[in-house]
Amino acid sequence: MEFSAFNLHPDVAAGAKGAGYVTPTPIQAQAIPPVMEGRDVMGLAQTGTGKTAAFALPILHRLTEGKQGHVRALIVAPTRELAEQIHEAFGVLGRQTGSRSVTVYGGVNINPQIQKLKSGVEIVVACPGRLLDHIGQGTIDLSQVEVLVLDEADQMFDMGFLPDIRRILKHLPSRRQTLLFSATMPADIRRLAQDILHRPATVQVGNTAPPVTVSHALYPVAQHLKTPLLLELLHHTDTESVLIFTRTKHRAKRLGEQLEKAGYKAASLQGNLSQNRRQAALDGFRDGSFQILVATDIAARGIDVSQISHVINYDIPDTAEAYVHRIGRTGRAARTGDAFTLVTGEDTVMVRTIERALNATLERLTVTGFDYTVPAPSKDSEFARPPRQPMPSRKPAGAKKGMPGSSATQPGGSRSKAPGRPHQQAAQATAHAAHTPSRQVKPPRRSQ
Ligand code: AMP
Repeated sequence: MEFSAFNLHPDVAAGAKGAGYVTPTPIQAQAIPPVMEGRDVMGLAQTGTGKTAAFALPILHRLTEGKQGHVRALIVAPTRELAEQIHEAFGVLGRQTGSRSVTVYGGVNINPQIQKLKSGVEIVVACPGRLLDHIGQGTIDLSQVEVLVLDEADQMFDMGFLPDIRRILKHLPSRRQTLLFSATMPADIRRLAQDILHRPATVQVGNTAPPVTVSHALYPVAQHLKTPLLLELLHHTDTESVLIFTRTKHRAKRLGEQLEKAGYKAASLQGNLSQNRRQAALDGFRDGSFQILVATDIAARGIDVSQISHVINYDIPDTAEAYVHRIGRTGRAARTGDAFTLVTGEDTVMVRTIERALNATLERLTVTGFDYTVPAPSKDSEFARPPRQPMPSRKPAGAKKGMPGSSATQPGGSRSKAPGRPHQQAAQATAHAAHTPSRQVKPPRRSQ
């Protein structure tokens, strides 16, 4: 199948070509025809599947006809990063169309957003909190919106944004096209979909299947040896850009510092950063001035760096879904990538859960020459301990209505559904796991 099969307006087709798209991805092949017909769509797809273009191309096509100069398409996304990414996609794909888009999120000055909205943009990409601020102040007119997209709806639910979404819906015309994208289908999202979608076409792509181009490996290791092993892996692996996940924002910060100390160009992304510093870290990662970005699941939401060669789980995620989501960032859109997970003895149950979800046994590897027998330090140093149990569920600070920065990413470690894990176990117990890999190998595949 080719993009020409969709009969997109030539200016929009030129945008897809300019972005280097030759063949539509499965979600695009399934979603673009019903969206072009004006139907509501429920799309089950995770990031990395090409879902942005699946809604952006038909929206741009629609906007080539009719009057311009007012808001005709509204895209609501959970995080600033995702909003920026969608805005950029509209910019690239719609370069020749003359349609304009603006991002609307908190944590930054509202006035430039007001100016842009006044100038008469057609596309608004917004995070819920700041959008409600604009609605409250009367600085946005949504009465002529033709298409509403709710992107990463499950994440918006996780971040406590569903009441905000329902409030926003009251300000939109009831006659409109609605597209809802979500990686998973919790009951609340199903209910929302039933309420707001009219006879939707449901499209779904490999919801729990990770990209086929990713090769996975587990590296059993004792908790206190995670950082030395990580350094060893990085040393021996030909990595272009590496996204490392930790369980808490504190660990992200500390690990980022340790990697810098070890001579790597590394940055960490945590909820505590100012918007400017977040953006600097992201831009630096995107343009290659940082080779390594350390982040928590929540802080990493929406990051689209197509060149990510490796995802490393310094701490195993809480759920199989989170695993798939994390590694979805490498091997995106048919590139190859590697996913390494450092596992300790207490991760056994989660490893089994992930393997069941993937329907595969993950390879256990050890790094030749690495001393797995180094005892845990007698001093109870931070990284010798398993990550701390997340704080009890609470609404993200930014999710409160009307607060500046309300579209802010939730700081890591406070995901409401994160299951707890035993706090402290003897490092010796986990050290045992390091001696029971299935086979010994040389450091990673691309070793030099
Ligand atoms: P998304 O899931 O929308 O975040 O897209 C993931 C990545 O795939 C982005 O870098 C897109 O630019 C890229 N992409 C989207 N559609 C295609 C396509 N048809 N061919 C190649 N790359 C694509």
